[in-house]
Amino acid sequence: MQPERRAAGLTELAVQRRCVSCRQSRSKSDMMRLVCDEEGSVWPDVLQKAPGRGAYVCWGKCLNHLQDRHLRMAWKGRTSGVDQADALRRRSAVAFLRLCRQYVRRVRRSVNIGRDAVMHRMWIHTPMLIVLAMDAGEALKRQIRQACTKREGAGLKTACSSFGNSALLGEFLEREKVSVLAIDDTPVSEKWLQYCIWYEQLLKTE
Ligand SMILES: [Zn+2]
Repeated sequence: MQPERRAAGLTELAVQRRCVSCRQSRSKSDMMRLVCDEEGSVWPDVLQKAPGRGAYVCWGKCLNHLQDRHLRMAWKGRTSGVDQADALRRRSAVAFLRLCRQYVRRVRRSVNIGRDAVMHRMWIHTPMLIVLAMDAGEALKRQIRQACTKREGAGLKTACSSFGNSALLGEFLEREKVSVLAIDDTPVSEKWLQYCIWYEQLLKTE
């Protein structure tokens, strides 16, 4: 079998799970696994390794709108009735924040924080992911966007994402406030950004 064929076959065989909220099936790597403990409390299992029977929910919208009845159905009434969905969202927010911080600590040497450090990095050739706080000053936003356009013009891979505010970005970096940061753009850092965005969405649901 050709390697490409084999890779395509593997994708087709990716394990599918059904979301407890929207009832759609998708690859389990695109979903969050949930587990239910002895007391009937539901916990996020973001690494999908905890023992016990799991249930799955789509990241983002389905988790944000999950209701107690979805969880009762998933575990056939074994969940403790009150406010499990809200508790799960709080626990998920804690788990996301922990993952985001762990990742930043692991790649600390490739993280640039603040305008000067980020601007300095603009001419380094490795793919770069820039995160800009929504409440950053207009001058900073303009300067970063112009530099990104120049980088792209020079054929350097550049992704720029704007979300949250400087206090939120600070939370991920365990600093008080961060208006802009840059990080190596890799599949893992893209996943990291996704966790950061889900964390922000969960905070908004509360
Ligand atoms: Zn769903």
